[in-house]
Amino acid sequence: MDSRGHSECLAQKSERRRVSFVPAPPLGPKYKTGEGSRLPSKPLSYTIEAAICSQNGKRSITQDELDTIRQEYENLKLASPSDAARVVVPEWNDFNSGGASVHFTSDQMLYNNPYVTKAPYNQVANVTLDHYHELADDVWNEYNRLLGTPGVPGKFPLDAGSTWRNPQRNEVSSLAPYSMHVRGRAVDLEPLKTAFVPGKTRQQLMCVLYQAGLNLHLGQKNKAIPDDTELFAEVGNDNVDDQCIRVDVDHIHFAR
Ligand SMILES: [Zn+2]
Repeated sequence: MDSRGHSECLAQKSERRRVSFVPAPPLGPKYKTGEGSRLPSKPLSYTIEAAICSQNGKRSITQDELDTIRQEYENLKLASPSDAARVVVPEWNDFNSGGASVHFTSDQMLYNNPYVTKAPYNQVANVTLDHYHELADDVWNEYNRLLGTPGVPGKFPLDAGSTWRNPQRNEVSSLAPYSMHVRGRAVDLEPLKTAFVPGKTRQQLMCVLYQAGLNLHLGQKNKAIPDDTELFAEVGNDNVDDQCIRVDVDHIHFAR
């Protein structure tokens, strides 16, 4: 069509102008422990088509990795109505490259989470989601203080089994949809398996680790007023509360 024709076309009251935008995000099924995925979620993608007179346009918009993660928090509201009111969806600038803490390497803090693999998103850490870095260091310091001789800090390493979890990943294992792990406020720690401490069994070390949590005023056992800190001995994903000496306890969960 020549330009005159095109102008005439645009001037007409036109049924020939058409814009369609039909987003159809899949509603997530209700939260159910054991479902979810350790792998990256599928990004949502929309196609927008517009046609005016003879001109057509078509664009696809696909979520990037950050928005895919943010979408998981939105989905969590739908999938877990009981948590909907308190779920906080991270903002874009809530994410940064995170990294190591004082006592834990970046890999330990990332704990083999294949979800976020690319810099700068290889670790999600921010004002709302990175509390676990400082928490892990505080526990390390207290655990080493307990194991060291007075005045001589110990050098007994810990390993981090789980830190921040995106909601999809959390659903694989956690009974709590909006777990402290999803909020970036929890860390699961255990004595490094290859680091032996003379005179202590692994289970005794678990109890030293648990005691470090008590000393940091975590959990509700030593509090008059419960708040949202947590301290549990755990066997896999099962909370066995304060039974750190059980031979099957494999980590201690800390949150604040
Ligand atoms: Zn945990």
